[in-house]
Amino acid sequence: MVFSPEREAAYLEQMFEWQRLRLRWLVLLPPVLLLLFIGLQSLLMRTPLVIWLQQPALYVYLAILLGLGLWMRRFRRAIPFAWAGVALQTAFCLACALMTRPGHGALALVLPLFVATPLVTAPFWARGPTVVTAIALGYLAGTVALWHSNAGSTVWLAFGIQAAVGSLVALVMHATVDQARRGYFVAEEELAQRARLDFLTSVLNRRHFIETGEALVESARPGRNLSACFIDLDHFKRVNDEGSHRIGDQLLVAIAQRLLAAGGARRLIGRLGGEEFALLLPGVPIDQAQTLAQQLCAEIATIDIEGFSVTASVGVAAWRPGESLSDLLHRADLALLAAKRNGRNRIVRWSPELEAVT
Ligand code: GH3
Ligand code: MG
Ligand code: MG
Repeated sequence: MVFSPEREAAYLEQMFEWQRLRLRWLVLLPPVLLLLFIGLQSLLMRTPLVIWLQQPALYVYLAILLGLGLWMRRFRRAIPFAWAGVALQTAFCLACALMTRPGHGALALVLPLFVATPLVTAPFWARGPTVVTAIALGYLAGTVALWHSNAGSTVWLAFGIQAAVGSLVALVMHATVDQARRGYFVAEEELAQRARLDFLTSVLNRRHFIETGEALVESARPGRNLSACFIDLDHFKRVNDEGSHRIGDQLLVAIAQRLLAAGGARRLIGRLGGEEFALLLPGVPIDQAQTLAQQLCAEIATIDIEGFSVTASVGVAAWRPGESLSDLLHRADLALLAAKRNGRNRIVRWSPELEAVT
């Protein structure tokens, strides 16, 4: 499943995000694993552990691994994290390789295990080049270990076979898991989209409009323009009663399309109820919002479905500093009610006198 560059970036970040908490601890693991590796050597070679623990190099390696791990915890983006992960893995494998004692080359065979396991299971955010580099460097570290420990030809052969099979298995597993994850990602995107949009008209549904609108209003600062339009179709019930619900539905869809076509990048367009829509227009002064509402009403009136058409009434209000979305929409609603009272098919701007009428 090949994604466009934007979608690929979103996919990588999402995969990274899912595992970020786990990774914050995982990157601190290599120093512990290095100590385990030393313990394993000590067991197999029947040499007291203190001999390894007296090696200054061990503490240098431990410090490097811990330093890398702590540094990686600060990364916030998937791609640099993936490459830093390759550096951490390579440093860890090299540290193991260089701690391998002469005459005990067979230990180098366990190095690829340290590499392959995290590669095939954890980094869904890592892309092809990162994975291939990580595998190559991991097995290269194994080669250093064999060379450093004067391994015999049988061990070299066994390592060669393990490197070939291990690389292939790691690549195939990574690709398979990656494909499956992409499928989930697409399904999740579709679900999230469905949860945001109104089923009939594809504008924002009430819940998403309110949630996003509240965030927008909370982030608005005094001096910024933010206007709201509350739109209600006039005598819409007649379309259903005299035509049919199917015609009514088609009218709603066509009207929503006009609203969407008029929307700018940051504008919110939602269906708040049956034949009621709302617009939230950040950066738009009230005069401009009123002009836009006039254009929209004119366009809505031209829509004709099987001989049926409707007009719209609109209430317009400008956000006041400190006001909630609910209060802003309420004032736009009061203006809408005035538009209905005054004969429909018109736009009314909120004014303080309207509060007195209700
Ligand atoms: P007013 O000018 O006072 O707003 O009159 P109205 O008929 O538009 O208002 P009313 O609230 O009486 O009726 C709204 C109608 O909208 C009633 C309902 O059948 C219709 N409606 C609501 N949702 C849908 C829908 O999804 N599809 C269709 N076809 N009709 C819907
Ligand atoms: Mg209504
Ligand atoms: Mg109506």
